[in-house]
Amino acid sequence: MIGQSLSLAGLQKRYGEAFAVRELSLDITAGEFVSLLGPSGSGKTTALTMIAGFEAPNAGRITIGGRDVTFLPPNHRDIGMVFQKYALFPHLTIRQNIAFPLRMRGRMQKAAIARRVDEMLELVQLSGYAERYPNQLSGGQQQRVAVARALAFEPPVLLMDEPLGALDKKLREAMQFEIKRLQERLGATVIYVTHDQDEAMTMSDRVAIMSDGRLVQFGTPADLYRQPKTEFVADFIGRMNFIDGDCLESSAENAVVRLSEGIVLNVRSVANDRERRCSAGEALRMAIRPERMRLVKRGHGGADALPGIVHAAVFIGSTYIYLVRRADRPEASLQVQIAADGFAPFQKNDEVDILLDEKALHIFPVTERRAA
Ligand code: ADP
Ligand code: MG
Repeated sequence: MIGQSLSLAGLQKRYGEAFAVRELSLDITAGEFVSLLGPSGSGKTTALTMIAGFEAPNAGRITIGGRDVTFLPPNHRDIGMVFQKYALFPHLTIRQNIAFPLRMRGRMQKAAIARRVDEMLELVQLSGYAERYPNQLSGGQQQRVAVARALAFEPPVLLMDEPLGALDKKLREAMQFEIKRLQERLGATVIYVTHDQDEAMTMSDRVAIMSDGRLVQFGTPADLYRQPKTEFVADFIGRMNFIDGDCLESSAENAVVRLSEGIVLNVRSVANDRERRCSAGEALRMAIRPERMRLVKRGHGGADALPGIVHAAVFIGSTYIYLVRRADRPEASLQVQIAADGFAPFQKNDEVDILLDEKALHIFPVTERRAA
């Protein structure tokens, strides 16, 4: 196990008056794979460059394996780095590229370096390519070389900034598994920056969601999906439907909410579920996943159902996604996901009732800014 723990405490970076990172505190365990996920401009790259030591923070501390590295130069931090553009040296062979950081460090004999390079090439399945030049390799192969180069000196922490961003979808997915396999095998601690939520969810032990220079939520992919703490996270992770309404009453155990159709739902709160409380009269935005709703024929849903009209049915292999227009609010369609067992139970223009699983309804105050 080469990985070390990494701790960020109150990290902050300003450029002039503007904050790139407002406040970032994270505790990452040795050997953990953590993604920083957020929209463009949310401060992910800035956070990474501070960890790598290319930029100094205006405030806060960075600790690696218990050692304060906040003001150490990059080459004293033992950090490996992989960028979106592979950044291989074009005039060096693949072997020379991978050997480069080992030679720079001056701690290994020539023969030992040659052995390590061979091991790394085998690890990324490019053994026959040592004497080629980068432009004789495909994009995916070049990125594997970049990963091999970053891992060659067994860095306790490996930083990757959108490393697969330049690759097409198929190759990107293959490389996701490749990187994950290498990371698990070597035990390195990885901080992986991406704006692609599928990528973050697939690869990570935990995901740190960033917005506007701040950490919004840090948790396992399942936590983030099931218990989004804010509307931003609910919207950012997976498919989500939003329904406006207001709060009628609330206690520690439940909330009674009214949807804009006038339908009243009694939402029982589950353990640790802060967000399922509200105060009477408060405007709410409620959220529910497509797979937590059902469709039945109009008139069969009972008093708690939302009337709707199917306006599209999308077959995506294992399931159908229905887009259903709410009868009272045709501008707001809902997505309903239903297992597909051979035939489509509903067609375009069918009148339906939409049933919501009340246990799966998230409640957010409307005052929260939608996209910030
Ligand atoms: P992300 O990687 O999440 O897309 P960045 O960390 O690159 O975000 O940028 C965060 C914010 O900081 C952006 O508003 C960006 O314009 C700003 N920023 C980043 N680097 C600099 C810089 N060197 N000078 C001025 N502003 C910067
Ligand atoms: Mg970036």
